[in-house]
Amino acid sequence: MERRRFFKMGFLGLGVTVFNPKKISELISHEENSSAIVPRVVSTWNHGIAANAAAWEVLMIGGKAIDAVEKGVMVTEVDLTNRSVGIGGRPDASGHVTLDACIMDDRSRCGSVAYLEGIKHPISVARAVMETTQHVMLVGKGAYEFACGQGFEKSKTPLKEVKDDWKKWVKEEKEKAKRPEINHENHDTIGMIAIDAQGNLSGSCTTSGWAYKMPGRVGDSPIIGAGLFVDNEVGAACATGLGEAIIRIAGSHTVVEAMRYGASPQEACEMAVKRIIEKHDDLTGLQCGFIAMNKKGEVGAYSVYNGFNYALKDNEREEMVDAGFDRSW
Ligand code: ASP
Repeated sequence: MERRRFFKMGFLGLGVTVFNPKKISELISHEENSSAIVPRVVSTWNHGIAANAAAWEVLMIGGKAIDAVEKGVMVTEVDLTNRSVGIGGRPDASGHVTLDACIMDDRSRCGSVAYLEGIKHPISVARAVMETTQHVMLVGKGAYEFACGQGFEKSKTPLKEVKDDWKKWVKEEKEKAKRPEINHENHDTIGMIAIDAQGNLSGSCTTSGWAYKMPGRVGDSPIIGAGLFVDNEVGAACATGLGEAIIRIAGSHTVVEAMRYGASPQEACEMAVKRIIEKHDDLTGLQCGFIAMNKKGEVGAYSVYNGFNYALKDNEREEMVDAGFDRSW
């Protein structure tokens, strides 16, 4: 234990300690072998409650975390009232709803799609990339053709309401005669992490991305290591918020690495958020948040600004939890 604390201080605070990650992770998993494993699922924002309920149906009967995190976020992807995930999501500046998603399992296998249009379940396409190709990531037309070839259900986008909102936005932008601004009110990716009864971790992440983004823009959400990262030996993390800032610090990977060296999920999320803050001179509108879970099923969350929350479900609880934060709006 003393040794673990020493390594933890080296990683989090002093930053100069030379160490062997493998030895440390062996040490940590040895300590954790004694703790009971419970299935648990967490996901970002209020839409996480419905998504967790679907994931829980898999977990409660002893199903695998990878199936739970796919089934869970599929609920959000087809919720047509949701303007930040799936086919009901807000479009880019040219009126196209382009979807990003990724998934990662307990064997470090991963799949991802980006800039995908007109497909109902990007997360399932990401899983098919993981399971049926030699690749990790497919984008745009190639991703669409792959999805069609695999028989995934199509869907016409944008919805009428979304198109009407977009037209209004275009008019307002023209009137203001300025470059479109990213709008932090209009984002809310779903990222989900689950641990199953076997103690295996998996994660998923799916979004329509930043509302009215520049055409061609891809955020953090489909980028393994940024929007999502899972290392079944250590833990998992996922992100929401301004994707560009999350990519700059390889956010979710950073959180998992902090846990590898002994940080709790909460400490790890705080460390990543503080790094984002340090790397940006101007934090105006720059909201980012992380949730994380370790091999014990312990959970942490933190964001730059207040307002970020996540949904948690296990045998005893089904609740929304407010994340800690560094700044107030
Ligand atoms: N991270 C997403 C993106 O940058 C936005 C979000 O979390 O809502 O596309």
